[in-house]
Amino acid sequence: MSLALPKVTGLRCVLCSAVYAHGEVEYTCPRCGIEGILDVELDHDFIARTFGKSALAANRDLSLWRYRALLPVPDDAALLPPPRLQVGFTPVVESPALAKELGLGAFFVKDDGRNPTASFKDRASSVIVLRAKWLGRNEITCSSTGNAASSLAGFAAEAGMKAFIFVPASAPEAKVAQLLVYGAKVFLVEGPYEDAFRVCQAAVEEFGWYNRNCAINPYLVEGKKTCGLEIAEQMQGSLPDVVTVALGDGCTTAGIWKGLVEMKTHGVIDRLPRLLAVQAEGAAPLAKTFARGDERIDPVEATTLADSINVGSPRNGIKALRAVRASGGAIVTARDEAILAWIPRLARATGVFAEPTGVAALAGLEAALEKGLVARGERVLHVATGNGLKDTRGAMRSVGPPTRIPPNLDAVRRTLEKR
Ligand SMILES: [Zn+2]
Repeated sequence: MSLALPKVTGLRCVLCSAVYAHGEVEYTCPRCGIEGILDVELDHDFIARTFGKSALAANRDLSLWRYRALLPVPDDAALLPPPRLQVGFTPVVESPALAKELGLGAFFVKDDGRNPTASFKDRASSVIVLRAKWLGRNEITCSSTGNAASSLAGFAAEAGMKAFIFVPASAPEAKVAQLLVYGAKVFLVEGPYEDAFRVCQAAVEEFGWYNRNCAINPYLVEGKKTCGLEIAEQMQGSLPDVVTVALGDGCTTAGIWKGLVEMKTHGVIDRLPRLLAVQAEGAAPLAKTFARGDERIDPVEATTLADSINVGSPRNGIKALRAVRASGGAIVTARDEAILAWIPRLARATGVFAEPTGVAALAGLEAALEKGLVARGERVLHVATGNGLKDTRGAMRSVGPPTRIPPNLDAVRRTLEKR
């Protein structure tokens, strides 16, 4: 199969703006090194020949592959069939009750915990595993705080590839269980995420595995942008004013924005929402950079129970900062206790059970409402990025203990009377 990809015009370095041809470089800018994150640039005139509002209306594929024309793989699904695990086109649930409580015009939650390995990261994994297959690669690796790892393990298993995974030893048990069940080779790294990232990078150089780290591999953001593409398509005609999402490494925020912009380019929507990206107070280097108004990112020692955003030195920070600024939005922080409180609050209002990171931006939304960064009466869509079953320990900390009783009806009656 040819490795030419006419829809990609080039890969541009976020630091020095050098542009490389597709296939010339797979990961970062050779001139700037590991900091030189690349951005995939597409030929939207070329893409518009097959993609647009009417093509979408006629498309019966309810997965992210309905946007294949915009993804970094050849368009021909007969030559290169997508993974069989169904990813994307996750439901958007409206909650008039939460809208009323928060004083918003409308409130929606996009439930990305419904993806096959129960997180947003499946968007990136499915795209990157197909790309790796196209490039003829059979061994793939990543470092992750947990969700990207379990996601890659699942898609590698489906594709018959070998996955090598590096996670911090503190990763929630459910995520580690997923890795082992999918048959990945798992390395629990004694140290924070930054150490897992570093060891994984060294292993890539030593063993030549395909690198799924979204900090390094520019094609991950292409998978993540499908969330933005979907928000635009699902909400066209009733587009939200603000999209809220948790911010760790930066790829998810950058990806959602890229997808929204592309849908405006292709005429599916005619305006763009603002992004409200939320960091945990204990892991908020990008919130500081945003407040300062520049692009300097000072690493911090990260500590938050929202493990998926427990990132002290974000690798895709510049892309995220530029996305939030271009949108006219903001980056704010939220305290861990406020994040935890939102797990039952979202679940009880909408039925969506999210992990701590999946609700972190709601705690941030309350702060943003107080500061006037989001106005009362605005319409908000929140992206819940991971399922609550991923981290039951975090969930149990957000609620009281269950009532323990001896096995008889009297005990039930006594408990009810006490209420
Ligand atoms: Zn560069």
